Amino acid sequence: MEGGSRRWRFASPNPAAAAAGEWSVRPYLLDLRGCLDEQGPRPVIPLSIGDPSSSLSFCTAPEAVEAVAAALRSGEFDGYASHDTDLAARRAVAEYLSCDLPYQLSPDDVLLTSGCTQAIETVMSVLGQPGANILLPRPGYPKHEAHAVFHNMEVRHYDLVPEKGWEVDLEAVEALADESTVAIVITNPNNPCGSVYTYEHLSKIAGTANRLGMLVIADEVYGHLVFGSTPFVPMGVFGETVPVLTLGAISKRWVVPGWRFGWIAICDPKYILKETKVFNSLRSFKMLTSDPATFIQGAIPHIMKNTNDEFFSKIIKLLKETAEICYSEIKETKCITCPQKPEGSFFMMVKLDLSQLSDISDDVDFCRKLAKEESVMLLPGTALGMENWLRITFASEPPKLKQGLERVKSFCQRHLSYGVPLQH
Ligand SMILES: *Cc1c(COP(=O)(O)O)cnc(C)c1O
Repeated sequence: MEGGSRRWRFASPNPAAAAAGEWSVRPYLLDLRGCLDEQGPRPVIPLSIGDPSSSLSFCTAPEAVEAVAAALRSGEFDGYASHDTDLAARRAVAEYLSCDLPYQLSPDDVLLTSGCTQAIETVMSVLGQPGANILLPRPGYPKHEAHAVFHNMEVRHYDLVPEKGWEVDLEAVEALADESTVAIVITNPNNPCGSVYTYEHLSKIAGTANRLGMLVIADEVYGHLVFGSTPFVPMGVFGETVPVLTLGAISKRWVVPGWRFGWIAICDPKYILKETKVFNSLRSFKMLTSDPATFIQGAIPHIMKNTNDEFFSKIIKLLKETAEICYSEIKETKCITCPQKPEGSFFMMVKLDLSQLSDISDDVDFCRKLAKEESVMLLPGTALGMENWLRITFASEPPKLKQGLERVKSFCQRHLSYGVPLQH
């Protein structure tokens, strides 16, 4: 028998799996850690991936910790989740979301997931079929694309327009959609752009989706994390215009991404989805997959009801401060511009002007050299579909953020194509 692969019947897995995997690892494959190895004594400042849970200023609410501890101590949540536990958790999420909607969600409109990631995976599994296509934003969140590809969908990108506060290019959406388009994904507040859509813009998106006959998948994992002049409006507000699947989690607002609790909310007050197969497929699919950990389900009604407003205001105040630091430091940095001051989420997108730099070939090269010379990590825009842009997270301790951005500034200064290079 020749070659290893012919012996094994599992030798050819789903090709979509390989393609999707490639996509989801792409940001991380840009192996910045490898660049750090030859580093000196300076501590690494990671401003590439947004997980502030390790910094003291961003620790979660004491009420949330207490709720989880109490759930564990009670001994009632050590088994598989009972019907009552699951129902109470779904009810808590339905009530939490309904506060901002013109109608009431019922527990039956909510599916629990293991973080927002599983919510993305679930909707893509249910909607994916050969021949279907889905509209995703550029720049975007890599897991939307990875799961769409994995589930056999053709991905079509519409642009977010930096000059218009990163709004959706609705003309592009109209041009991209056809009879096989099943959904449009929007992320609001936006990762990576830091933008927050106005009521009017969301209303236009809803109108467009309605006209084109596709549903809206709204990734609102940064819901309520806004600190500019635009308030957060959930897409579900437009559920009468177009059916909306809202994806969310406690990961970002409560700063506990490791707790793995998220949801899909079916915001469809006119019951349009109920008459299609989507509704039943979502429910059947959820029966096949794993729940969030039972003790988190047990804790969630308390977490949602008892978390103090002071905690939320503290986080918002901190993000406002760090976004300000980030914006003003970047303003002083030659060769990098920020088209739009962030108003929400943990991130902003900034543009590299390569013409001002002497020995940098593109955004990936910039990030590699920056990691090597300054021990600062930024995410190359290429990983998110936008070459020669960078994503910076400002969900970091203020002094550390400032120090990181000072290093970016001196890196740029040193690599300018004119002027005297500074000593390293
Ligand atoms: C972080 C993030 C997620 C994933 O959330 P988890 O709850 O950690 O799985 C989904 N979408 C966007 C836009 C994110 O930034």
